[in-house]
This record gives sequence, structure tokens and C-alpha cells, in this order.
Amino acid sequence: MSDKLNKSTTRSYVSIDETSRALLDSAVESSFVMDVNGHILAANKAAALLMGLKSVEELENHDVYSFLPEDVAAIRREKVQDAIEKRASVRFEEEVDDRNLVHSIVPVFNPWGDVVRLAVSTLDLTELRKSDEDLRREQQRQIFFMESLPGIVYHLYPDKSIRYANRYFRKYFGSPKGKNCKEALECSKSDCNACPPMAAMEQDRAVEWDWTDSKGRTFHLQCSPMTDSAGERMIMVLGIDITARKRAEDDLQKAHDRLEDRVRQRTKELEKANSELTNKSMRLVSAMKKADAATRAKSAFLANMSHEIRTPLNAVLGMTELALRSVNESKRTNYLQRVMQAGNSLLSVINDILDFSKIEARKLTLEKIDFDLRKTLDSAMDIHRTQTSDKSLFLDNSIADDVPNVLVGDPYRLKQVLINLVSNAVKFTEQGGVSIDISLVSAPPKPKKGDEVVLEFAVTDTGVGIPKDKQKAIFKSFLQADDSVTRKHGGTGLGLSICTLLVELMQGRLRIASEEGKGSTFAFTAKFIIGDEANVARDIEATLDLESLGLSNLKVLLADDNKLNLELASTLLIEQGHNVVCVENGAQALEAVKKDRFDIILMDVQMPIMDGISATRAIRNPNSGATDPKIPIVAITAHALKGDKERFMEAGMNDYIAKPIKMTEFYSTLARAMHGADLCGDEKTGAEDAPCAVDSFNRQGALDMLGGRKDLLTRMDEIFLRDIPGELEELISYMANHDWEEAKRLAHSIKGSSRTVGAERAGAVAEQVEFFCKQKDVNSAEEELKILEAEVKTALQYITDDMQS
Ligand code: ADP
Repeated sequence: MSDKLNKSTTRSYVSIDETSRALLDSAVESSFVMDVNGHILAANKAAALLMGLKSVEELENHDVYSFLPEDVAAIRREKVQDAIEKRASVRFEEEVDDRNLVHSIVPVFNPWGDVVRLAVSTLDLTELRKSDEDLRREQQRQIFFMESLPGIVYHLYPDKSIRYANRYFRKYFGSPKGKNCKEALECSKSDCNACPPMAAMEQDRAVEWDWTDSKGRTFHLQCSPMTDSAGERMIMVLGIDITARKRAEDDLQKAHDRLEDRVRQRTKELEKANSELTNKSMRLVSAMKKADAATRAKSAFLANMSHEIRTPLNAVLGMTELALRSVNESKRTNYLQRVMQAGNSLLSVINDILDFSKIEARKLTLEKIDFDLRKTLDSAMDIHRTQTSDKSLFLDNSIADDVPNVLVGDPYRLKQVLINLVSNAVKFTEQGGVSIDISLVSAPPKPKKGDEVVLEFAVTDTGVGIPKDKQKAIFKSFLQADDSVTRKHGGTGLGLSICTLLVELMQGRLRIASEEGKGSTFAFTAKFIIGDEANVARDIEATLDLESLGLSNLKVLLADDNKLNLELASTLLIEQGHNVVCVENGAQALEAVKKDRFDIILMDVQMPIMDGISATRAIRNPNSGATDPKIPIVAITAHALKGDKERFMEAGMNDYIAKPIKMTEFYSTLARAMHGADLCGDEKTGAEDAPCAVDSFNRQGALDMLGGRKDLLTRMDEIFLRDIPGELEELISYMANHDWEEAKRLAHSIKGSSRTVGAERAGAVAEQVEFFCKQKDVNSAEEELKILEAEVKTALQYITDDMQS
């Protein structure tokens, strides 16, 4: 059959003109024409290639089935037969050797309608199929990639629809199906036209945008225009959730802002601190300048003070020497008077210093007692009468009618200020005089007892005056208007400072009005309460009489090694009906208070074995064994200078009585101590009370001190005559043995005894001996001792005579 076919094929060979051949060859797909038996009449190159042949010639005039595997050839015959029978084209796909082939068999009819030939074209879809698959896979990969992205991905179209949204999108916003982008994204933006993705679409360019949804999440969106698989333009939006980053950025920004705020604030604080530091250092510099000035002032003060101390001290030494050498009694008295004056001015310098330091250390408190203003003024003026009359100056005063006379306040301190101002006024005035005017500054409408009043005290003089530029400085401590070395008037420069401080304590102010060459007025205000006349009177009585205070029958312990003092004090006490136990030293006093209970102790300060201060300390010690460690203790002492009081107080004493004992003072001090009051502000100084000159004898003074009681003086005289010769003997032997402590004690005792009986000179010399014993100055002490022996001898004789007369 094959042969037959071949023969017929050969026979039915059709020639192909050039055009048909060209058409055949130009086809990309394989094409050939065969007769119904499969004999290839004409073919193109693609057909030869498909069959695995090199040229068309190898194919033409051959049986097509011979090129095909058996099973493929069978199917092909079947399909050809199908086309012949159906007289229509047959199209079918076939997989041969991993190739996808699409065949099209088209029957060709002769004029009689018989199928004589068949045109077969084959398309190799293998590559096409393969790229289709690749494309599909690629698309799948892309979708997988987009689905698994940790951010939103969606495809936005010009009609605002979202046709694709990835899993992240759907999870967060839900499915966008059937919604426009505004609904799908729950976008709160009102103007969709200004929306960057739309702008990206319109301008066909990529855009980036940070967008925050209605729930506060922020996405960084990248909008890229592209064409979808259907060829439609759209925007692919890729969004990364940057909420956390944004929040962190915001927090960072806030922290940064806060930091900046803090830096600003800190800078401000630093600037403030810096300016404060600058101020401080400026203040420091000015304080340093002030301190410098103060140091200079203090140095000047020290120089001045040393001058003030040396001048009277030189006088004391010089005059004493003259007195010691002089045999002329009246000359000696004169020298000694001047010694006394110099001593007094020395004491006043020292008192000034003590006063000032005490007030400055705020250790001074004012009394609050009823006092008579006129009497206080009179006594302040009395002190200056001699001086003013010596200088032929007037000394006047005037008190306005509305000034109450009885006030409650501190009369001693008021007097001190007045004395100071008047004494300055007198000192700096050579012509005219000084007047003191007291007026009422403020008071309630109808002032009565207990009301507060403010008074002004003005001390006016017609003296040298003070230049304007010095008026401020003189109130400063240690400064004087005339600070030249050659200044005419003495003074410590502390007076006005003390006055200023005292006036401040009286809640007032001290001011000055002065014109150089014309005079000055120093005026100060002070606050008082209107007092009660009756209280002024009662106070005086109280100082005199213990009994009126209900203090009778006291049990008194008297400790004094000086027999004379012991006798005097015990007599004064016994006379008032008190019981007295006498001991001779501090140790015995301590023993006594351990055994017995007393109401009060009168204690000499200087005693053998144990002095009064040590004894007081021992008694005050709660473990001392004393029955009453709080018992009132009053010192009896010749150490009555300022500053001693503090020593007694510090040891625990309540008050002191200055030797030689004065009756009124003795009783009033006891009354005060029994009333529990501490040492009063009324400074008792040896100086104020000391006689102006050392007469050999001052019997009247002695009598006055004993309240005019001659009997008492006689008793004192008897004891003096009895004890003093023995004490003098003892003193001489202690000095011979250089036992300075005991010698000093005896000299001290002789001093007190002598002064009690009015043997002033003996007392003064004994004081000298005491002084030199303290200094352990053998020569001077021995010299003084000789004089003392003579003085005591004179005194014994004088008193014996006086008693007999
Ligand atoms: P002192 O104790 O040295 O007198 P004050 O403080 O009382 O010190 O006075 C200081 C200075 O003030 C005096 O040295 C004097 O220069 C001046 N002064 C005080 N009162 C008067 C006055 N009434 N007239 C002139 N100068 C005075």
C-alpha cells in the first residue's frame, strides 16, 4: 500500500509556484501539503525543522507518517481520516517528546468536491506554554510575597476602588471589596483630591507619604504608578506601620524638648546662681573692706585704749612713788588723792569695755522696776555738778508737765546713758553749759498706770560741736570725732556705742544734731510703762527689812575667815532674829550643809583651805550630799569689780555683798536673794562707792556703813584690836617663809577688817601687800609690809583712843 501511495503521490505531485512557496516559507509555524495518503507534496522549512530534518527536500515526496513514532502516526492518521470524512478542518493538540503541538488539518477539494489533498500546519506551543507558566509562577510568587509582607499592600485604581489588598491590610482594615478607598481605609481626610496616592496617579510618579488612620496608627506609604496584568493603570501602595517608630520619635522629641526645657531652666538657674555668686562675692569684697576698716578702727582703738589705760596707770605709779617717798603728811594725802582719781578713771575705762562687750554679746537684760524719773535725773546730774561749776558752765534741766514721774523700766541703765551724754557734753563745752530736756513723745489719750509711753531725753550743749562728716562715725565703736594722736580729750570711743545699744534695748533711738562751733544735741527716745508710786516706796522698804517680807527667823550659814566680818555679819543677822552658824572656810561650809538644812549661806570668796567659789560649786553639785543644793548663796567679797559678778554667778552664787559691809545693802541683798532674784542690774562697783581720797581714818564712813549703829562699830573695834595684831604677826611669818598664798589671804583679811573700822590707809596698804603677794614681788611686798606694820600700829592706837574718848 505504501508503495501504491508513494506511486500515487508521485503521481499527484503539484507544482508550487514561487509565490505560494514564498508564502509557505514565510510562515513561522510548520506547514505542509500532503495527499490523502500522507505523501508530502510541499513543505516549508519550519516543517522540516519540526520533523528534525535539515532541509525541505528531505521532507517533500516522503510519507509523513514515516517520520513519526508509531503511536503518534496512528493518532495523526485518525485525525486526517476525520477531516476527510467530515470534509472539514480538524484542530487538535498533541504532546510529542515534551513538546506542545497544535495541529490544524484543512482538507483541499477538487472541482468535483472530492478531498484530494490536505494542508497541515503545526504550531509549537512549547515555548509559549513555558513562558505562560513562568509568568503564572512569577505572579504567584509576587502575591505570596505581598501577602506575607509585614505591611499593607493594595492596588488603588483611578475610580478610587481597591481591587487588591494583602492579608495585613485585610486583617487590619477588613476586606476592601465594594468600598472606595476612603471607606476601606476609614480615612478621615476630607479632601481626596489632595491625597498623595491620587496625585501620584495623576502625575504618574512615585510619591511617599506618612498617613495616620482614624485609630491613630501611622503608615509610611510608598505609592508607585504601574499597569496591571489587564493593562489598566493603577497605583500600588506599600505601607509600613511606623506607629511605634513615630511614637518613639515623638517620645524622643518630647524628651528632647523636655531636655531642652531643662537645659534652658538649668541655664537660667545657673545664670541666677552666677549672679548671686557675683553679688555674694561683691558683698564679700565690701564685707572685707568693712572688716578691714573695722580692723583699722580696732587697731586705732587699741592704741587709744592703751593710751587711756597707761595715762592713769602712770599717774597711779608715779603718784604712789611720790607718796611713798614723801614724809610730809599733807603732800602724801594729796598724792594719794590723785592716785585714787587715776584709779577711778582706770576703772571707768575698764567698766566701759566690759559693758560694751556684754551688751554686744546680747548678754544684758534690762530691769523692769518702778522708779522715780526726777530722782533718777537728779542723781545723774549731781555727778556732774562739781565739774560744771569748776568750768563755770550751767547745768539745767526741764521736764514737760505731761511726763509721768513714776515709770517702770531700768533706772540704772537710763542713768548710765544720761551720765554718758552729759559727761560728753561737759567734756566738750568750755562756755555756756548743758541742759537736759525730757518730753513726752507718745502716750494714750488719758495715760494711766500700766500704759505705754515714749519719752524723749535731749542733752544739749553749747560746746565745740561735731563736723557733719564725723557725725555718723562717732556712733561706731572705738571711733572718736577727733582721732588725731594729739587729741585734746581722752575717752575710749565706746561711750556713744554703749548708749546706742542701751537705747535700742529701751526700744528707742539715739540721734544727733550738731553744728561745728555752736554745740550739739544728743537726743534719744525710750519706751516705758507708767508705774505706781506705792511700788517705788515699797521697794525701798523691802531693801531695808527682811521681816516686812515675812522672812524672819532664817537659819543662816556664815562662812568667813575674817573674824571681824564674821562678827559683824552675824551680829546684823542675830539682831534681826535669825539663827547664825559660823564657819571659817569653804570646806567647813560644805560639811555644815551636809549635816544641816539652812535657809541661806553668806560666803566669803577668799578663804583658806577651800575658797567660796569652789565651795559654791561643790554645794551646787547634786552629788555633793548637801541637803539643799539649790540653797541661796550670797557672796561677801571685796572683789566687787565688774566681771567678778559673772564669775560668782557662773559658780552658782545668787548675789553678792561688797566688803566693807554696808548695813542697808546687806539687808536688801539678803531680801533679794531670799526672793529668788539673781544678781540685779545695779552694778556695785568699788569705784562708785569709794571715797574720793584716802584719809587715814574715815570713822564716819564706817559708822554710816553700819547704819549709824555706834554699838556695832564698838564691837567691830574690839575685834579689830583683838585680832589684827595676831594676823599681822602671821602675815609677817608667812611672808618670811614665802608662803604667798597664805600671806595674800591674811593681807586680804587685814584689808577688809581695817576698812570696816574706817582705818582706810591701813586697808589701802594691806591691799598693796595683797597685790604684791599675788605678784610674788618680794621686795615690794616687804617694803609695803613695813608701811603696813606702821599703819596698823597707828590704827590700833587711833581706835583705842577713839574708844576711850
Ligand atoms: P568717748 O568715751 O571717747 O567720749 P564717745 O563714744 O562717748 O567716746 O564719743 C565719741 C566721740 O564723739 C568723742 O570722742 C567726741 O569726739 C565726739 N562727741 C561726743 N559727744 C560730743 C559732744 N557733746 N560734743 C562734741 N563732740 C562729742
